[in-house]
Amino acid sequence: MDGLRVIIGPMFSGKTTELLRVLRKYAIAGYRVVLVKPSTDTRYSSSKVVSHDGLEMDALVVEPTIDGLKKVHNILLDHDIIGIDEYQFFNYSKELIRFLLDLSNDKLVIVAALNLDFRGEPWEVVKEILPYADDIKVLRAVCTHVGRDGRRCGRPAVRTQRLLDGRPAPYNSPRVLIGGRESYEARCRKHHEVPK
Ligand SMILES: [Zn+2]
Repeated sequence: MDGLRVIIGPMFSGKTTELLRVLRKYAIAGYRVVLVKPSTDTRYSSSKVVSHDGLEMDALVVEPTIDGLKKVHNILLDHDIIGIDEYQFFNYSKELIRFLLDLSNDKLVIVAALNLDFRGEPWEVVKEILPYADDIKVLRAVCTHVGRDGRRCGRPAVRTQRLLDGRPAPYNSPRVLIGGRESYEARCRKHHEVPK
């Protein structure tokens, strides 16, 4: 089993659920499966990955850099399938991309990542790995923007809207801000707002 698969989409599109579903399927089939997550993501639990709908799996928590990955290299080599959640939080370096591509030569590496940040701009580390993927699964959420008539938009959502006290967060706010439904919503292109 080898190759590189990428699961991308905005928040609330089910990326973690999809990643855990695939990993679980291979675990049931007898493959040695490991799930990695960056240490910046402290939502819900520090040693487990929990999807928004409650699926969970133990995770290997690593510093989100090439050095963090190197520290667990031997553990990774001991598995057949490597899942990485919240991949966008890893610091980009050419070496990190090469490290993952080398692993994917004889293991199946599956990364789940946000397609774009809250500004609607790509993450370097995601952008640089996409062309190498054998399979890219693009997930979409549902736009929850409420119009003046009180109705939800309901279009497929491809963007992540950050909210600050219920209003769209400005462009110059920090790129990484861990949060759930109180700070983020899924939005379609038309309803994604980033005040400059
Ligand atoms: Zn919309």
